[in-house]
Amino acid sequence: TVKIGVLALQGAVSEHMDALTDSGAQAVAVKHIDELNDLDGLVLPGGESTTMRRLMDRTGLFEAIKSFAASKAIFGTCAGLILMAQKIEGRQGPHLGLLDIDVKRNAFGRQVDSFEAQLKIEHVADDFDGVFIRAPYIKSVGPDVEILSTYDGHIVACRQEHFLTCAFHPELTGDTRFHRYFVHLVMENK
Ligand code: GLN
Repeated sequence: TVKIGVLALQGAVSEHMDALTDSGAQAVAVKHIDELNDLDGLVLPGGESTTMRRLMDRTGLFEAIKSFAASKAIFGTCAGLILMAQKIEGRQGPHLGLLDIDVKRNAFGRQVDSFEAQLKIEHVADDFDGVFIRAPYIKSVGPDVEILSTYDGHIVACRQEHFLTCAFHPELTGDTRFHRYFVHLVMENK
């Protein structure tokens, strides 16, 4: 079995851990750099990307995760997607900058703070219940990025090598198919 961490500084941590466990992985909460040591993959959960960045800097996890990403699989959801993007609209420079994608934060507008939509996700499902909460979307992707899902003409999930990301919250539905896909990527990458 594979051992997968969930960055546990803020946000929906236990839901991700449950979904990973249900998907056959061993799940570990990550609050300190030494907890990354024997992991095969990592989930960056939803929350608030600027707050998470501040906490990552404070704990040293920012640099540690950058090194970890050189060889290990990472799955970023919602705020985690923003942390992984190479370009963020209105912001000078990226956070981790792992994915060749250009993102817009809170992209679906203030009047629709959160909503659910049925999504088709490549390799995963034709009928996935996507929970969007002040969600970003992906404006464009580079040539090495595979688009996995779109909603209303906007890209909401993609993959680049050992990196997976989505704009919605797959951990909040009890449907573990997206997590299973990540566990499969982690195994392939190991
Ligand atoms: N709007 C948040 C951000 O910019 C992301 C929202 C979420 O993770 N649910 O970080």
